[in-house]
Amino acid sequence: MAFPAPFLDELAARNPIEDVVGGYVALTRRGSNLFGLCPFHNEKTPSFSVAPDKQMYYCFGCGKGGGVVNFIMEAENLSYPDAVRFLAQRAGMEVPEDDAHREDYRRRERLYALCREAARYFHAMLNSPAGGPGRAYAAQRGLSQSCITRFGLGFAPEGWNGLRDAMRARGYDEQDLLDAGLAVRSPQKNNVYDKFRNRLMFPIIDVRGNVIGFGGRVMGQGEPKYLNSPETEIFSKRRNLFALNIAKKTKRDYLILTEGYMDAITLHQYGFDCAVASLGTSLTEQHANLLGKYTRQLILTYDGDSAGQNASQRAIRLLEKTNIQVRVLRMTGAKDPDEYLHKFGAERFAKLLEGAENQVAYRLQSLQSRFDLGQDDQRVAFARAAADLVASLPGAVEREVYGARAAEAAGMSAAGLMTEVERLRRQKLRQEKRQQEKVDLAPMSRRQPKIRGMHYEDEKSAQAEEQLLAQVMREPGLFDRIDLGEEEFSAPLLGRAYAALRSCWQQGRQPGMAALEAAFSPEELSHLTAVLARWDQTVDDRAVQDCVDVIRGRWQARNVNVESSDDNMQYRKDIMQYRKYLQEKKGLGG
Ligand SMILES: [Zn+2]
Repeated sequence: MAFPAPFLDELAARNPIEDVVGGYVALTRRGSNLFGLCPFHNEKTPSFSVAPDKQMYYCFGCGKGGGVVNFIMEAENLSYPDAVRFLAQRAGMEVPEDDAHREDYRRRERLYALCREAARYFHAMLNSPAGGPGRAYAAQRGLSQSCITRFGLGFAPEGWNGLRDAMRARGYDEQDLLDAGLAVRSPQKNNVYDKFRNRLMFPIIDVRGNVIGFGGRVMGQGEPKYLNSPETEIFSKRRNLFALNIAKKTKRDYLILTEGYMDAITLHQYGFDCAVASLGTSLTEQHANLLGKYTRQLILTYDGDSAGQNASQRAIRLLEKTNIQVRVLRMTGAKDPDEYLHKFGAERFAKLLEGAENQVAYRLQSLQSRFDLGQDDQRVAFARAAADLVASLPGAVEREVYGARAAEAAGMSAAGLMTEVERLRRQKLRQEKRQQEKVDLAPMSRRQPKIRGMHYEDEKSAQAEEQLLAQVMREPGLFDRIDLGEEEFSAPLLGRAYAALRSCWQQGRQPGMAALEAAFSPEELSHLTAVLARWDQTVDDRAVQDCVDVIRGRWQARNVNVESSDDNMQYRKDIMQYRKYLQEKKGLGG
């Protein structure tokens, strides 16, 4: 599934990274680089950089980095091949698809088309005589006609073959229906029948506008009450949120996250066009990242029961990592937003939103609910736990406010609780300082890759390898003079990058981001761009030779230690001599 190298080079040339990124981020020039506010993490001062000469971007804040294709993958939530197609379309280029690739792409396009057709069929059914029960249910739930149209709601009538036969007539076969999750095979009768029957249908649409699956609400008392499409090639519950395709266009500076589609739809109906719903799963890391692309502030409206509270706590912890500010909505007199809006109307809900508690208040509140404050020992335990929570807040004013609130709940003086908060704070600061000292003493440890399972085994060599890698990117002609082998690198990732760039050069291509992006994962790319950003100075031949010497010397030392058999030593000596001979011949002996 590889794209031809010359195509990728041209793609990169026709999509200058500064133009592409400039469409997403306001950039200002500072020296040879451009800077802006990072689209991938929350920040107030720009630490996101674009280097036109290297055709790469790198964020000094969150450490994300890569080339233009990788940027589109991150910004548009696309796979590598789809990001390539996206950029090809942007530049008006034809994509040379190889056969397996093209087949794969066609397959997915076919499933998208089938799901769209199915959504049309269900929608037509809702408005047909067979759709009576669906229309009655929608009316009973108070759904307006315009909302039904906007969300493309539909109805799957009773019976086993309605959708199957209609889609067959449009040229789709049973395998298509199974792959799209719209049909089920009966093992006994070995036939294929409709998965959704006698249900109000909610099409699930991704952020790019493709119908990827469905949710169905049963009419009457059947089980399960809500049925979702299974995971398919095009539908993943963990990666998609209901109504985000609409909510992403909202003018409001926050999104509302609900537990069910009915809540989200009702919110839209009442003018809150910023509501999304998770699809019958708890919030995932992928959801959190996806939300982070569209908002800086999220309001949670989970149910008030203990399951809902646990879900809120879990979501808050996940969202904290993305720097989304979280607030939690507390409703009284209704169990969910759907019920609340129908009972009390939009204006009161808007008031509720204004008062939505921020996550600190919420956490304090749920902490409190775990203790019986009528008992002395429980009060003490609560005060301790609350002091710990308050001590973790960065702002002094915040600590003051929530400290006082916690003290009141614990029935003690604010001053008393704050003494404990300050003690914990000093303790935390001391710990942080010790951590920082450790880092300062061993500066290389800061450069350790953040990729799980990857570690620089030999930091001295790794430093030379990093420097050399950055240098050959700038001056690929060096490849003709350096005879280092990939195996001599102590860090496999750096060795692979070096080898990839060298093979590029040997094929007469410009070694650059386009080659790296095709061969490395986003995490690996982030580390490689960090390396390139770090070693930004051009160095002279002397320094390059020093790097080569360090890398080779460390490699030899490692191998002498590991392998001591005579044969091996002789063999290595021979190689050394041969390398030395080559080196002298090429005139980079120093
Ligand atoms: Zn960032």
